[in-house]
Amino acid sequence: MKIYTANDYIKDVFGEKLYKLSLNAGCTCPNRDGTVGTNGCIFCSAKGSGDFGADAAEPVSIQIEKEKERIKEKANCKRYIAYFQSFTNTYGNIDILRGKFMEAAYNPDIAAIDIATRPDCLGDDVLKLISELSAIKPVWIELGLQTIHEKTAKLINRGYELRVYDEAVENLKKLPVHIIVHMIIGLPYESPEEMTATAGYISDSGVHGIKFQLLHVLKGTKLAEMYSEDMFDVLSLEEYTDILIKCMKRIRKDMVIHRITGDGPKSILIAPLWSGDKKRTLNYINKQIENS
Ligand code: SF4
Repeated sequence: MKIYTANDYIKDVFGEKLYKLSLNAGCTCPNRDGTVGTNGCIFCSAKGSGDFGADAAEPVSIQIEKEKERIKEKANCKRYIAYFQSFTNTYGNIDILRGKFMEAAYNPDIAAIDIATRPDCLGDDVLKLISELSAIKPVWIELGLQTIHEKTAKLINRGYELRVYDEAVENLKKLPVHIIVHMIIGLPYESPEEMTATAGYISDSGVHGIKFQLLHVLKGTKLAEMYSEDMFDVLSLEEYTDILIKCMKRIRKDMVIHRITGDGPKSILIAPLWSGDKKRTLNYINKQIENS
């Protein structure tokens, strides 16, 4: 099977290789600060799904320089994607957010801005800011949907209903932005058919890209407590790959696949431990995709 990867897309759109710089806008999350909930999604680590991000206390331009330095060995490129990853990056004072995003957008080394957020944090003021930003640099918006099934959404304490996602996508589609949606493969009690249905729904909603993420059990999370009480099983590499390929077959051929698994930080990874061997995992998955 041939898939359209993020590298293919970047080459097609930008004509060059780009690397991501993980930046930190200093946002919190409404699912943690009490606005929507206090405990967060059950799989989310203390760093708000941004375990590799930069220091929020530093100006964005300094974060950019430090990140460039950090990845210089592996990043053989001239320009970068400014990736605001930790927590919910459109949740906060809009003027402060504007300052941070614009600082990245006007940096000559930045080719695109990538903002990870929740569908319930895309009010009119945020959409206006995204529109302003997109006039300066290409903008990618990443939405953490994870599942379309309400029983699982409740179990993982996502804190919003599917209709909120639908509305956010409709609003974003009016802007010239590249929309990427995250889904998790391996959420407790979901069948492979239910996971494939989530992939299909994301594809049918007309977004441009998808990130497939293996469910990781990380230390200090509610999910870790459930796992220690044997309340669910994690997937084997073979099971994960099998479901992943089913999901890939269900989505549009023009969808950009931005991620095929993801890796949790080894220092806090409890399960599945096979995912800690990134090279072996990617080799296996890529081979199965090729042969499918
Ligand atoms: S929305 Fe994101 S940052 Fe907030 S609790 Fe869930 S995974 Fe963590």
